Amino acid sequence: MEIITTVAAMQARRRQLHGTIGVVPTMGYLHEGHLSLARRARAENDIALATIFVNPSQFGPTEDLAAYPRDLPRDLALLEAEHTDIVFAPASPAELYPSGYQTWIDLADPAPGDSPPHRPVSALPAKLEGARRPGHFRGVATVVAKLFNLTLPTRAYFGQKDAQQCIVIRRMAQDLNFDLDIVICPTVREANGLAMSSRNAYLTPEERARASVLFRALTTAQAAHRAGERDADALRHIMFDLLSAEPLARTDYVSIADPETLEEITGVLTGPALASLAVRIGKARLIDNVFLDL
Ligand code: AMP
Repeated sequence: MEIITTVAAMQARRRQLHGTIGVVPTMGYLHEGHLSLARRARAENDIALATIFVNPSQFGPTEDLAAYPRDLPRDLALLEAEHTDIVFAPASPAELYPSGYQTWIDLADPAPGDSPPHRPVSALPAKLEGARRPGHFRGVATVVAKLFNLTLPTRAYFGQKDAQQCIVIRRMAQDLNFDLDIVICPTVREANGLAMSSRNAYLTPEERARASVLFRALTTAQAAHRAGERDADALRHIMFDLLSAEPLARTDYVSIADPETLEEITGVLTGPALASLAVRIGKARLIDNVFLDL
């Protein structure tokens, strides 16, 4: 497995590569969720490339950038065991954001007078995670665009666990004409239903056990939906009440939203929806989601 730590070396290496390339962007501290993406990239492409970069621009000033867990030697061993060919792990944030850096990708509302006129929807980053984490998706879209430019993937792999990120990246790739396929992979969970996340490292064993309440809330709403419940408020209440019954959980939001625009649904569901939530437990802020299909 080759390890590349500079932009210049990545660009030089990319010029020599032929065949299909599957890219898995990560922030490291890898778990089975990441590895499921790495396996898929390995199976579907001539070259499997993973990136490891804790992207400072997607963290807010009061968020956990400094505390974010890191273990590069372990990550490299795990990727090597999955037969990853190349890992791009920039040696420092300055590799991607050198001094003087000032170009950002912001998803924004359609400009007035756009032709053809768009349906008036507010931009994706104003919703859900973006509303709680100002600037987060600007950082995500920018770093992912940079990683796409550096690695020129045939396919890029992302996890459904970060549902809004998937939608933002699909939009960005389409809007900026990136010539690649975005592949969304299912959420990998612990035995108790907890979605795997590098941030689960912040949880004590007891908190980790109690954190199963997120998936329980989602699957209970899903079961009610399957049984015929179509009232969006009723479905949000089901999730909220379950979370409220767990003393260690502090609910940030519960949402029943349009799966494409992420517009919150009011009244009755007339099509598929995305049920999602964000919950604080101990030092961690956890997110998860499931689809409600008709
Ligand atoms: P991160 O390192 O958290 O930025 O995640 C890197 C990629 O792995 C993103 O596309 C995530 O959505 C994906 N990912 C993280 N956790 C999981 C999981 N539990 N199951 C599937 N994919 C995941």
